[in-house]
Amino acid sequence: MTNRKKPVGPRKILVTSALPYANGSIHLGHLVEYIQTDIWVRFQKMQGNECHYVCADDTHGTPIMLRAESEGITPEQLIDRVWHEHKADFDGFHVAFDHYGSTNSSETREYAQSIYRKLKAANFIEVRSVEQFYDPVKEMFLPDRFIKGECPKCHARDQYGDNCEACGTTYAPTELINPYSAVSGAQPERRSSDHYFFKLSDPRCHEFLNAWTQGKLGTQSVAPLQAEAANKMREWFESGLSDWDISRDAPYFGFEIPDAPGKYFYVWLDAPVGYMGSFKKLCDTKNIDFDEFWKADSTTELYHFIGKDILYFHALFWPAMLKFSGQRAPTQIFAHGFLTVNGEKMSKSRGTFITADSYLKQGLNPEYLRYYYAAKLNGTMEDLDLSLEDFVARVNSDLVGKYVNIASRCAGFINKRFDGKLADLVANNVPALLGQKYGYSCVEAEKAATLIADAFEKRDFSKALREIMAFADSANQFVDQYKPWAMAKEVGKEDELQQVCTLALNMFRWLTILLKPVLPELAKNVEIFLNVPPLTWEDVHTSLPADHRINEYKHLMTRIDTKQIDAMIEANKQTLAPAADSHSPTRHAEAQQHTPSPQSSLASGESSARGAKPGEREEQPSTLAPIAETISIDEFSKIDLRVAKIVNAEHVEGAEKLLKLTLDIGEAQTRTVFAGIKSAYDPEKLKGRMTVMVANLAPRKMKFGLSEGMVLAASGTEPGLFILSPDDGAQPGMRIK
Ligand SMILES: [Zn+2]
Repeated sequence: MTNRKKPVGPRKILVTSALPYANGSIHLGHLVEYIQTDIWVRFQKMQGNECHYVCADDTHGTPIMLRAESEGITPEQLIDRVWHEHKADFDGFHVAFDHYGSTNSSETREYAQSIYRKLKAANFIEVRSVEQFYDPVKEMFLPDRFIKGECPKCHARDQYGDNCEACGTTYAPTELINPYSAVSGAQPERRSSDHYFFKLSDPRCHEFLNAWTQGKLGTQSVAPLQAEAANKMREWFESGLSDWDISRDAPYFGFEIPDAPGKYFYVWLDAPVGYMGSFKKLCDTKNIDFDEFWKADSTTELYHFIGKDILYFHALFWPAMLKFSGQRAPTQIFAHGFLTVNGEKMSKSRGTFITADSYLKQGLNPEYLRYYYAAKLNGTMEDLDLSLEDFVARVNSDLVGKYVNIASRCAGFINKRFDGKLADLVANNVPALLGQKYGYSCVEAEKAATLIADAFEKRDFSKALREIMAFADSANQFVDQYKPWAMAKEVGKEDELQQVCTLALNMFRWLTILLKPVLPELAKNVEIFLNVPPLTWEDVHTSLPADHRINEYKHLMTRIDTKQIDAMIEANKQTLAPAADSHSPTRHAEAQQHTPSPQSSLASGESSARGAKPGEREEQPSTLAPIAETISIDEFSKIDLRVAKIVNAEHVEGAEKLLKLTLDIGEAQTRTVFAGIKSAYDPEKLKGRMTVMVANLAPRKMKFGLSEGMVLAASGTEPGLFILSPDDGAQPGMRIK
């Protein structure tokens, strides 16, 4: 919104937040997005703009289908239940959507199908045969995250079909060793099926997206992306845009593709269309002109708030889909970073994977979190840290200690001594007389309000709050200087006491107006206390009239008790998801399938604001690698561990990490093993040592020769590698059990 000229009359604005997936709970990471969008929308409404805020549950895809099945309910029942949970969480944090819908609606279906038909007519759809893993037991094609197997690189078992948790390698599911279906356990087959592609590689897409990204379309007045996001787009352009697979085979919970029986729209196709579907519902109830907001030459503004992990979908596919189906492109896309808690990824084991519901259940005021997030948000894609100690300190100091304190120190005198009536500031020239002495003058306040409005507009909420708190400081200094509590005891100071308290309450009112987008409930209570109609931004230019009567002051906000925070962390440790949860992939994860974007752009979101969708695998503390899944003694005994004598050890030419070991395990012939221990051991010193090897590991052909087993070594997060040794007396070939 940089340098936007103030248009004549109210702006017409449509705002969305990304759609939460309907397979789990809202957590504090998600709220980074909804709270920031809500603050921005409330700011726009206070400005007198026509601003509509819509969102919806994202309800389609394989994870929903399988989850419903495992719970023994229909997908419709599942998404209905989750919708109510999500809605209650958003209401609890005062996120005020004008409409909160579901992608599983007739409106979304209609728009998805009509967009598809138009794209097809314009020759943007192509059918191609795709080979994919198929579960013969479950009779369905498997998304990458539903295939598991052994990592082709480090041989860690039970790794997902897209990347290895142990060594971090990414690969295609077809590269997994001994793959199996995470749904049925069956060995998957490779099968071909027709898939529908959106031709993003079409030169028309490239041309349009290139111009749009740079803000060079005739209809654009601003560049649509933040600098970091625009850079990302440039990378994508340079690596070339690939076509997008928009279909999935039955069984699938979603919308069928017109004239393509058994084929469904991939969930990511209809998710953004859900913005339109939800808005249409709002239009129908509120008599808003839908087309005015979506037609190709629309002069209204359209903003999408999203997590940085779904930029690819919103900055490439979505504008292209809109453009080539004859509609407008987004005005701007506001991407944000992920949430960390106490400087680390959210973690279930540490209790920092905090659900919205558990926060509210502790009796914590939702506006504490709204304030804290706002104090940290600056409109960039940087990650945001919720430092719990800082959270307590800042809320207590800023909101209770500074802001609320102004009213609590002055209101009582007005109520008790002056029958609730305020002094006439104008007639007595009070702001000028007092203000010039203590740094508070109307001129400065006007200037500050303009600056703060500009910061809100640019989503630099942290800047806005810094300015607001600087004024709260001067207001407190003013009260400290005049000491109304001392004046109240002096004879003949009645008028001055009333004037000082009146001015302080006006400053409090002024601060309330500026904080209202962030603290809507508190502002409502202040409006009751001050006995005024709902405050708008215009009210910064006025003050309360002489003889205005305020109501009795009631506590507006209490301090956070650290015990509540401790209890919340404990509660989230206790609600550790059951082990089965670790198998529940998310739509986010599924998104990687057939997605031409760089893995990092989509896969990096785990435990983040957007990425860590409920039910996703948790992150572990970095100091200790996670303990692997429990195995039976039978499974363990499949591993044949033997005592081995290192007969020879030598460097391998051209290998950076490997040593070639010749091992005696009591067999007729020695074995050759290539071990990645060069950094830790001098081969000369290994000769003659006893160690432990896996004797029944499938031989592996390496660049330097055949490796016939594996030597065991310990390592942690710190550098260092330690091979194992048996105690004295162990002989080559002895079995280790
Ligand atoms: Zn691996």
